[in-house]
Amino acid sequence: MHGGKGFGGGEATRDPAPTYINPNDPKGKQQAIHKAESFAEYLAKRGGGGGAMPSRPTSGRRPIVGGNWKCNPASPYDLPALVANINACDTSSCDVYVCPSPLHVGIVYQSFNNGAYVAPQNCNFKGCGAFTGEMAVDQMEAMGIKWCLIGHSERRGEFGLPTPAESNALLATKLAYILDKGLNCIFCIGEPLPIRENGIDAVMAECRAQLNEILPILRGLSDHSRVVIAYEPVWAIGTGVTASPMQAQETHAGIRQYLASAVSPQLAANIRIQYGGSANAANAPELSAQPDIDGFLVGGASLKPEFAQIVAAIAAAKASARF
Ligand code: PEP
Repeated sequence: MHGGKGFGGGEATRDPAPTYINPNDPKGKQQAIHKAESFAEYLAKRGGGGGAMPSRPTSGRRPIVGGNWKCNPASPYDLPALVANINACDTSSCDVYVCPSPLHVGIVYQSFNNGAYVAPQNCNFKGCGAFTGEMAVDQMEAMGIKWCLIGHSERRGEFGLPTPAESNALLATKLAYILDKGLNCIFCIGEPLPIRENGIDAVMAECRAQLNEILPILRGLSDHSRVVIAYEPVWAIGTGVTASPMQAQETHAGIRQYLASAVSPQLAANIRIQYGGSANAANAPELSAQPDIDGFLVGGASLKPEFAQIVAAIAAAKASARF
C-alpha cells in the first residue's frame, strides 16, 4: 500500500503523478493515462483514435449485482429467508444473480420471482458422465440456468483448505465451455494483500496475469454482456475492509484500459466490471458513484436484507450518472 493508507472507507490516497503506459499503442507513441481516471475520460482525452470513442453520456452498461452465498446456510430451512432477500430486489434497472451453494442450487433455482438469475459457484468443463462430485454446465443448461461464476479467489487457492488451486489455464477452459454451452459467466479476479502492498503497478500485473489466458475468448465474444469481470481484492473479501472508492476505481479503470489495448476498445467500453470485497449497504453508494464500477459481487451482505439496498444504490447511481 502506498503510504500504508487507503484501506479504510473514505480515506483514499493517490500517488502524485500516477500513469499507466500502454505498450500496445498503435501509433507507437506510448500513451500515459492517469491511473484513477475513468475509461470514458481516457477515451475522451485521447480523441477520435480510429472511431473507438463512445459518445454516449452514460456508460450504457446495465448494472449487475450478485450475491455469493458460498457454503451457506447450514440448514435448508434457512433458505426461504435468503431467497426473500433476493426477491426483495428491484431488478428493473439492475441485473441480479445469486450463487447458492452447490447442494442448494437445485432447491432454490426456481424460487426467484423478480428475474434474478441463479449462478452456480463453479462448474466442470467436460459435460455429464463419470465426474464424481462435479457440476456440469450441461446440467445447468438443462435446468435453464443462464449464468455461472468461476475463478473466485477461494477456488484460486485462497480457500484455507489443501485443495488444488484452480489455474488461469483451467479457468480459461471453463469459460470457453460455459460460453460454448450458451451460458454467461462471471469471471473473478483479484490480488492478495502482499501484492496490493506493492502498489498499483503490482496489482495491475496480477490482474493482467489472471486475464491473459481468457483474452482470445474475449476477442471472439460478440455479445460483450455475456462475460462479467468481478474484481475482488482478496484482502477485502470477508474481512470488513473495503477497498476505498479511489482504489477500486483506479483498479477498475486499469482493467478496462488493459482490455481496451489487449482485446478492443469496444469490449472495454461494454464489459461490466463488478467490485467485490466487503461491499454493503453503507459503502455501496460511494463505490457505485465510481464510473468504472458497474456493480458488486457481495458475500456476507447477500445473506442479509441489506442486499436489496446495494442493488438500489448502484441502480440509482448509474441512473443519474453523467460521464
Ligand atoms: C465474495 O465472497 O465474493 C465476497 C466479496 O465476500 P464479502 O462481500 O463477504 O467480502
